[in-house]
Amino acid sequence: GATLGVVGGGQLGRMFAHAAQRMGYLVAVLDPDADSPAGRVSHHHIHTDYADIDGLARLAGLADAITTEFENVPAPSLEHLAVARPVRPAAAAVAIAQDRVREKSHFVGCGVDCAPYAVIESAEQVVLVPPNLLPGILKTARLGYDGKGQQRVNTREELAAAWDRAGQVPCVLEKLLPLDYECSVIVARGQDGQVVHFPPQRNLHRDGILAVTEVHADNVPEAAGRLAVESAVAIAEGLQYVGVLCVEFFVLADGALVVNEMAPRPHNSGHWTLDACDVSQFELQVRTLAGLPLNAPRQHSPALMLNLLGDLWFPDDDAKPVEPRWADVLALPGAHLHLYGKTEARRGRKMGHLTITGSSIETVRGTADFAAALLGLPIPLSE
Ligand code: ATP
Ligand code: MG
Ligand code: MG
Repeated sequence: GATLGVVGGGQLGRMFAHAAQRMGYLVAVLDPDADSPAGRVSHHHIHTDYADIDGLARLAGLADAITTEFENVPAPSLEHLAVARPVRPAAAAVAIAQDRVREKSHFVGCGVDCAPYAVIESAEQVVLVPPNLLPGILKTARLGYDGKGQQRVNTREELAAAWDRAGQVPCVLEKLLPLDYECSVIVARGQDGQVVHFPPQRNLHRDGILAVTEVHADNVPEAAGRLAVESAVAIAEGLQYVGVLCVEFFVLADGALVVNEMAPRPHNSGHWTLDACDVSQFELQVRTLAGLPLNAPRQHSPALMLNLLGDLWFPDDDAKPVEPRWADVLALPGAHLHLYGKTEARRGRKMGHLTITGSSIETVRGTADFAAALLGLPIPLSE
């Protein structure tokens, strides 16, 4: 059978591998961690650095087509692989998504509004920042995730100090916006230009990390939802993108929709699709990679996903991690537990997720609140 390759061995690679294997493919994973979540469930595991030329050559030798699961895979590594094999999404698209400066220019070029911002690459640019961008959030242009690399600043002096703390690397300063809520849209685009999408997902973050995603008929007002889907499709088309792309949005207090950022891969806010859709985001990743037809996914149940962070393993500030009592949670109807097989629990680390499905969103929320109580998470989940 054919082999699909993935650069990066985290939970996204693991769920990609599950989807690929179900469809008859072998999977080859490249990751520096000898015991990565995806490597553990895959046929081939190349245990090496993302930029190691020999490792990349081995992956290209094993796999018929290659994708990524990790946003910060060096774009030159993908370019290198693309000489030998189809790489989807292409290095050029991944490179834009890896750099907030290029990403924002792309959004503007597609006619999609983003938060007012300024590029900060020099001390003069700190001095010249328009006052209407304060208070703001300083974000490093590269390598940030889960809110890492971000600092809130109120004044020009704080901005200067924050830019120093960031190591004076290229950054963007974004105006701090009054968010009503956040949502994301996942699209999949095939080589022939066919595009399918999932419904808008409503997301709640805690401490900069996704905590809860909810998807049901009325989770986003219709006009905002339609605009979010159109914008995500335009962003994918503007990149001539092939693969699965997630676009994050803010909906402001006045109802305006603003794009935040994109991820060139399946996304945490789309994990619910495994249990509540007839085609998951990972199956669409497989289909786009293998050049198979795409079918518009259909959601067959309202869904709520809860992220399970490593904090749950430390209920009483005890030094030793304790595995949560999954049996209690699994006794709840409609509870779907996913654990990523990570060997070590750490605070803030994504260890798994729990998706609740049910016949109505009220039932789903009730079950989710029950699960949250059992696990020691904040209740109600929507706050
Ligand atoms: P990830 O890639 O894990 O989603 P990230 O580190 O790239 O996170 P962002 O998505 O840019 O970070 O921001 C994290 C969160 O911070 C957002 O989901 C939102 O809650 C808040 N945030 C970011 N930018 C703004 C803004 N301009 N105004 C208000 N809140 C913001
Ligand atoms: Mg990000
Ligand atoms: Mg984000």
